[in-house]
Amino acid sequence: MTNQELFNQSRHLIPGGVNSPVRAFGAVGGNPIFIERGDGCKIIDVEGNSYIDYVGSWGPLILGHNDPDVRIAVLNAINKGLSFGTPTEGELRLAEEICRLIPSVEMVRLVSSGTEATMSAIRLARAYTKRDLIIKFEGCYHGHADSLLVKSGSGALTFGQPTSAGVPKSIAQLTLPLPYNNIDAVISTFNAYGNDIAAIIVEPIAGNMNLVIPDPQFLQTLRNLSTQYGSILIFDEVMTGFRVALGGAQYKFGIKPDLTTLGKIIGGGLPVGAFGGRSDIMKNLAPEGSVYQAGTLSGNPVAVAAGLATLGKIQSPGFYEKLHTKAELLIHGLIDAASVYGVPFSAQSVGGMFGLYFREEIPTCLEEAKTADSIAFNRFFHAMLSHNVYLAPSAYEAGFMSAAHTENDIKTTIEKSELAFSTINHTSAKE
Ligand SMILES: *Cc1c(COP(=O)(O)O)cnc(C)c1O
Repeated sequence: MTNQELFNQSRHLIPGGVNSPVRAFGAVGGNPIFIERGDGCKIIDVEGNSYIDYVGSWGPLILGHNDPDVRIAVLNAINKGLSFGTPTEGELRLAEEICRLIPSVEMVRLVSSGTEATMSAIRLARAYTKRDLIIKFEGCYHGHADSLLVKSGSGALTFGQPTSAGVPKSIAQLTLPLPYNNIDAVISTFNAYGNDIAAIIVEPIAGNMNLVIPDPQFLQTLRNLSTQYGSILIFDEVMTGFRVALGGAQYKFGIKPDLTTLGKIIGGGLPVGAFGGRSDIMKNLAPEGSVYQAGTLSGNPVAVAAGLATLGKIQSPGFYEKLHTKAELLIHGLIDAASVYGVPFSAQSVGGMFGLYFREEIPTCLEEAKTADSIAFNRFFHAMLSHNVYLAPSAYEAGFMSAAHTENDIKTTIEKSELAFSTINHTSAKE
């Protein structure tokens, strides 16, 4: 069957034909491609087209597709059974690895998605502080729990519903959305409501409104005010954990949050999330404490095996240096190519993630990210796709480099980008 035939059938049975909104090509136009298999940095669709992939399943696949060591670890686990609903040693070993690699995490609980991790961390923070208000930042995405789908990023932003329908007003009112990187807004909000704020949740490097890197002073202010007012600082490192550095964004900035949420890479492509942090807070979770949180498949042995194998490999010497060198090679190639064709464009990278912006300057908040030329991005996206390079189908997503991308793959990508950039200018709406 062709991509088109599969999509036509899917639309009748699955809303929008997809099981997660960003997979649809709603923002860029056209129909999604159906992938049959992945190999290294490539994905191959049902029609046999092969693409260099910079989405990596939206972040988890830092080793690339179908990594042989991860595959063997998963097959070994599968041979012993798929799920037991009892503790297993793998869960302990994954908890050990997480706590060792991210020292602010003294205790950790495993869940099955990033959404579960952030939702549970918020509940825990509210219980611990006996307060209700939370601060989040515009354009940050923390999964799709009610209290976090307020001025949200990622697909919610892409499809123009940053605050979802169906979120009760009474719940949304407990979330105070502030502009990212805006220190004054945080200070004045704490001045007004400080003693009622249970938690601040933040992407310590934002990757769901395209890539936005914080002013270190912004994160330090969040740390200082949380400490001063007894609020819980939650770093949502579902995307940045093991992606921007082995120790995550908190290592990069040298700032210690009270709680950290994880996902994506810790599952190596299978469903694993986690939240952890100070043990005096974590001990409030059931069955030790009174905050209920549970999951039939939490800490699933097959998923944990994929996570452990992935965390093992990313600790090899020079892993992140190589990743970053390749990301830099890519963005500098793209910047040069754009300038040859006079396309307003900027780009940056951090660790294994990068941002491409169809505007002259790198954005520092959602307002700025939104002024990028979306028509130019859409044309670029489709031109790249037609040249067998797969980018995220939205201007509000970061891109991901994997260990499986070679310099040759990147050179090919840059060559294709020259063809893509050459087609943008004379057809762009911004003339
Ligand atoms: C992907 C993501 C989530 C949600 O994780 P899911 O596994 O999709 O539920 C939460 N926070 C951030 C920062 C993310 O990038």
